This record gives sequence, structure tokens and C-alpha cells, in this order.
Amino acid sequence: MRPIHPRQLILLVTLAIGIVAAVTTLVVTGDPGLPRTAQAIIVGASALLVSYLVLSFVLRRFIQDRIRGIYKTVQGLRGAADAPAVGISDDALGRVEGEVAEWASARRSEITELKEREKFRREFIGNLAHELKTPIFNIQGYILTLLEGGLEDEKVNRDFLTRASHGVDRLIKIVEDLDLITKLESGVMDLRLHRILLHDVVEEAMEEVELQAREKGIALLDKVPEDLAVLGDKDRLIQVFVNLFVNGVNYGRPGGHCTVSVDDLDERVLVEVSDNGIGISEEHLPRLFERFYRVGKSRSRNEGGSGLGLAIVKHIVDAHGQTITVKSQEGRGSTFAFTLRRAR
Ligand code: ADP
Repeated sequence: MRPIHPRQLILLVTLAIGIVAAVTTLVVTGDPGLPRTAQAIIVGASALLVSYLVLSFVLRRFIQDRIRGIYKTVQGLRGAADAPAVGISDDALGRVEGEVAEWASARRSEITELKEREKFRREFIGNLAHELKTPIFNIQGYILTLLEGGLEDEKVNRDFLTRASHGVDRLIKIVEDLDLITKLESGVMDLRLHRILLHDVVEEAMEEVELQAREKGIALLDKVPEDLAVLGDKDRLIQVFVNLFVNGVNYGRPGGHCTVSVDDLDERVLVEVSDNGIGISEEHLPRLFERFYRVGKSRSRNEGGSGLGLAIVKHIVDAHGQTITVKSQEGRGSTFAFTLRRAR
């Protein structure tokens, strides 16, 4: 059944009042000067008019007050001032119903988003604690062993101190990466885009990883043309290459390589960093750029990674307005490819 409109309700009620007044006049009273029917019509019409005016005024006030209450609740801080004025001919309640439904659906998605953020935050703190635990326990173990007599033992004291120091390096790396990723995410770190020679950027990054690569017997190869200029933030791009090279070395095989090459895409260039290391199986690829995501739970932790390297890489590439993808085959190697704008 269709809900009755306020105006219809008032008309029905006033009509009833008019009829009752007219009938009562007809039955009960009588003015000798007027015919009784005319008298009844006058009384009935006056009662109808007066009751219509009174009822519409009262009903309008009533609806306005109620709606104001609902708006106050729904709009919280915005207050009742925003409640629209209603006339009795408006479908005010229908309008309020629509707005409340809209409000409820907005709140629902807000709650879902908050729940997701909460889950993300919990996971993040859990992952962080997990990452920090390993080096802290290692350092604690070495120090305790040294305190319990290892310090006097010439065969282990230097070795254990060196290992403890590596643990501290690892902690510093995690904290530095976290700091960087937070700055990138909060937009504190603005990029300074300049015309830069990509070949030089790659060379500088290679210098930083050279020692590690040599120790592992992995060749770092720069196949970027020397005159290729791109638009980018030099320091941040060096960071991108360092992170990719470190992975190329950590997950590479002795005698292997990690190579940078470029492909022409008109306005942009496609930069590829590929290695012939252990590779990554397909199911891991979609989540590879997430913070703390690891393929083998223990494998990279043993290599000293913070679990944030690729997340940082993706952030920097995104901040350049470009995209990064990965292709990999387990046992054969990986290729990380991202675009950069060419500088004229
Ligand atoms: P980390 O290396 O510190 O663990 P990253 O974010 O750099 O963190 O990498 C995430 C994971 O992706 C690594 O744990 C590793 O399993 C995998 N991975 C990254 N780069 C390579 C690569 N070149 N070859 C094989 N696996 C890789």
C-alpha cells in the first residue's frame, strides 16, 4: 500500500471535521434567521478552513521538528541548521529516508575501510616485530656468549663481535628503510625531476653494490647508451637500482649476472634489470612489491634484506608517475621492468 501523503491526511481529517460540524449544526442548533442547511454549510466550511490551517501548521511544525532531530543524529557535527525546510506538500519523509539510506551506505563503506586499515596496521606491526626479532636475538646471543667467557677466548671473541655488529647493521638497515618508506608514503619526500643521464645513474648504483657482487661472483652489467637522458630524481633512481642490484646479487648464483638494458617507447623508455638467479615462482609475483613480502620465509632474511626493498622501488617509480612490473621463472631468473620519461 502506498504511504499516505501529509496533505492528503490533512484534507481527509479537515473534511471529516467539516462534515461533523455541519451535521452537528444541522441536528443540534438552529438559527431562526437562516435556513438550517445554509447554516450547516457555513459552519461546516468555516470548521473545514480553520482546521485545515491549524492542522497544516501543527503538522508542518511536527514534521520539521522530527526531521531536524533525524538530521541532527545523521549529520552529527553539522547540526540541525542543515535540515531543509519542509512544506506539507513535500515528500519530506521520503527525502529523509533516501538521505538516511545514503548516509548509512557511506558509513558502511567507511567502517569497512577502517577495518581494512586496522587489519593492515596489525599485520604491519606484526611483520615489523618479526623482522626486528631476528637480529635482536642474534645480537643478544653473541653478547651473552661473550659475557659468559667467550670474551677471553681468542678463537671466538672477534668473530662473535663481528657477527653482533652485522646484526646491528641489519637493524639500522630496517630502520632506515622504514624511515624512507614512511617519508615516501606521506609525501614528505618530494621528487626533484631533472634531465639526467641514465647510464651515469646506473654506474653510481653499481659502485655501491660492487663489493657485494664481487664477493658473490656476480657481474653487474650496464648496457644503457651513454647519451640517453631521462627525467627523474637522481638520488631516488640510484636507490631504485641499488635495491634491484642488491636483490640480483642476493638471489643470484655465483658466476651469474645482473644486467640493465633499455628499450625505446617513443616518449618513454623501458628500463629492464634482469638476472639469471634463482627466480620467483608465479604465485608470488602479484604480491612481490608489498612491504615485508617474502618468497621463501627464511631465505632473504638470511641474506640480510629488510623486506622493504621492492616496496621502496615501487614507491619511487610510482612517484615518477611510471609503472613497474616483474617477470620471473623459478630457477631461470627475474626481470624487473619500469618506464621513465625521456628527456629531450
Ligand atoms: P628483501 O630482499 O629484503 O627480502 P625485497 O622487497 O627486496 O625484500 O624483496 C622481496 C622478496 O622478493 C625477497 O624476499 C625475495 O624472495 C624476492 N626477490 C626479490 N628480488 C628477487 C630476485 N631478483 N630474484 C629472486 N627473488 C627475488
